[in-house]
Amino acid sequence: MGNASVLEERKDFILHKQEGCTGNGIKCDMDSISGAVSQRACVYCGARVVLNPITDAFHIVHGPIGCASYTWDIRGSLTSGDDLYRNSFSTDLRERDVIFGGEQKLIAAIEEIAKKFHPKLIFVYATCIVGVIGDDVEAVCKRMSLKYGIRVIPVKSPGFAGNKSVGYKMACNAIMELIAIHKPAKRKGVNILGDFNLAGEIWIIKDYLHKIGIPVISTITGDASYNNLIEAPAATLNIVQCAGSSTYLAKRMEEEMGIPYIKVSFFGIEDTTNSLIGIAKTMKDEAAKERALQFTKEETKKLEPFLAHYKGKLKGKKAAIYVGGGFKAISLIRQFKTLGMETVVVGTQTGKKEDYEIIESIVNKDTVILDDANPAELEKYIKEKRADILVGGVKERPLAYKLGVAFCDHNHERKHPLSGFDGVINFVKEINRSVNSPVWKYIH
Ligand code: SF4
Repeated sequence: MGNASVLEERKDFILHKQEGCTGNGIKCDMDSISGAVSQRACVYCGARVVLNPITDAFHIVHGPIGCASYTWDIRGSLTSGDDLYRNSFSTDLRERDVIFGGEQKLIAAIEEIAKKFHPKLIFVYATCIVGVIGDDVEAVCKRMSLKYGIRVIPVKSPGFAGNKSVGYKMACNAIMELIAIHKPAKRKGVNILGDFNLAGEIWIIKDYLHKIGIPVISTITGDASYNNLIEAPAATLNIVQCAGSSTYLAKRMEEEMGIPYIKVSFFGIEDTTNSLIGIAKTMKDEAAKERALQFTKEETKKLEPFLAHYKGKLKGKKAAIYVGGGFKAISLIRQFKTLGMETVVVGTQTGKKEDYEIIESIVNKDTVILDDANPAELEKYIKEKRADILVGGVKERPLAYKLGVAFCDHNHERKHPLSGFDGVINFVKEINRSVNSPVWKYIH
């Protein structure tokens, strides 16, 4: 790896924390700088992140076969029911289709699925080339919906049409299109938004909510099904875990269905505790609040000796964080603090202004805060700040290993849940295994 430096146009997206908060913030929530080789995925991938976990949906990728390589296999999310979503379907557009149009291929693909599988729900993703040649995907979906009496929903997601956040938005619009026509009777309960059940987290959160007496109506979209999703308008509150992907949906549901929302996080003891109590309070359910207080107190107590043991091994280590959304980054900084570790570099792909304000207020002086970073910047600051571990996703893993730095996957490749009190145990053990692995002393 060469000497990494920062492009002039990228400098405003990076902040070196000063004493107190500067209040100047950093540039964020914008399209990536051309040529900066951002770590972000494209619009289509953003849309797929949100919709793929719907377990009985069919996902047709209208585009060249390359786009369809983004499937369940690289975005594993768990199911308690159907596993249709593990298949990927593509119209496999070729040169001829680009010249003469791909609508006939799309019609043929939908008809094949409709006849063979009798699905309830199909999503059709319009990728880059479809945005260029201008197939009328919306009209095809409408026609096929009427012909087969099923929901065929277009997801307008040409990769070049913005950034990953635009893909989230397109997926949220598709979910609204799916659920808005259903009017189930209102009943007490929450929808969980922005958890994709990557390693069974939805089941942990549902169990906690069940313990404190809060019913869950729909999960959007981890372990979701068509029948479960269309019940979502019945809920009295939306709780939003991944704010980056799902706040837009929560806002639309608030405006159009009158369902208020709160942001929550189930990463770490502090955030899990505050979220459970906060949900009960917002629902104005005194009994649930009491149960939440009791439950979180007991669980925190149980973890004390475990944390004390690992704090001894991890105290003084330095962490770098590069994750998708701001809320996860904030929770991670807090988790590292409870372990006696310092966050020296922190960045996100899709953080918003308010997320960065919180991040700036909770990190120490000289911490580097980055929005929409590229590998060169991550390399530069991980080296400069002498981070012992990088927490990130699949695209950051090779970077950490090339730099001889420990790594923790906090994204879709992991196989153990990191949510709730159960997740604290997995997270701390993984951080310890990675940071204190004997391999690093041979590399340095
Ligand atoms: S950038 Fe375009 S071509 Fe590439 S995966 Fe995304 S939608 Fe497909």
